[in-house]
Amino acid sequence: MTVFSGAGISAESGVPTFRDVETGLWAKVDPYEISSADGWRAHPDRVWAWYLWRHHMMSAVGPNNAHRAVAAWEDYADVHVVTQNVDNLHERAGSRRVYHVHGSLFDFHCDTCRSAYRGPVPDMPEPVESVDPPVCEACGGLIRPDVVWFGEALPDDAWERSVEAVAGADLVVVVGTSSVVYPAAGLPEMALANGTPVIEVNPEPTPLSSSATVTLREKASTALPGLLQRLPALLT
Ligand code: NAD
Ligand code: ZN
Repeated sequence: MTVFSGAGISAESGVPTFRDVETGLWAKVDPYEISSADGWRAHPDRVWAWYLWRHHMMSAVGPNNAHRAVAAWEDYADVHVVTQNVDNLHERAGSRRVYHVHGSLFDFHCDTCRSAYRGPVPDMPEPVESVDPPVCEACGGLIRPDVVWFGEALPDDAWERSVEAVAGADLVVVVGTSSVVYPAAGLPEMALANGTPVIEVNPEPTPLSSSATVTLREKASTALPGLLQRLPALLT
């Protein structure tokens, strides 16, 4: 089984989806500006402040029943998790094979020389507009999170493993993603083209809904815990 997850699976843990972040300080900020390579070059302090706050939020919450259900499937199947999320909630729930196609907010590197950063990351319990990023000891470059921004390539390793996981799957479960951001959104399409059944779990319709084998208009934490038991009924 390959699970393909997006922000919706972590929403019930209290991590707001991108669309939810329409209030407060960040409502005034163009989402492109805080999650693109262009935005980072123009205002690294704003981008760093935004990610520090998200880092705090993601550290403060825990996995929910949906993440736990996915981890528990490993008792019954060979499970690979492809996630667009930069949180570590799948790992914290116990999933062993997790591929972060959009990177991770729990690792950092120098934007200039690419070396890993293992220094301190300040806690940011309240959002602020601007914080200067740490500076690389080796080259003086700016430290950034290992997340993939608009305008950047996906990490080769995670992407290759994800494509393999989809190609080798007997079933793909797509959960909590708006299915609009490519190339990641192409993974379920790849499965369908191979004849592999795709089950979508999302309370809202998405561009994938019309082509998915089954669409469950349910929340992740409702649909996933009993999904294996429902499979025979869903797929016949
Ligand atoms: P998204 O916020 O675009 O979509 C979240 C999806 O989850 C929605 O379709 C929603 O209906 C669904 N959802 C909400 N609650 C749910 C629940 N309880 N159970 C199941 N589904 C639920 O997030 P995404 O699809 O992960 O976005 C893909 C990627 O696009 C992200 O990884 C990110 O890199 C990028 N993105 C960035 C921005 C931005 O920077 N402003 C905005 C959107 C997407
Ligand atoms: Zn450096």
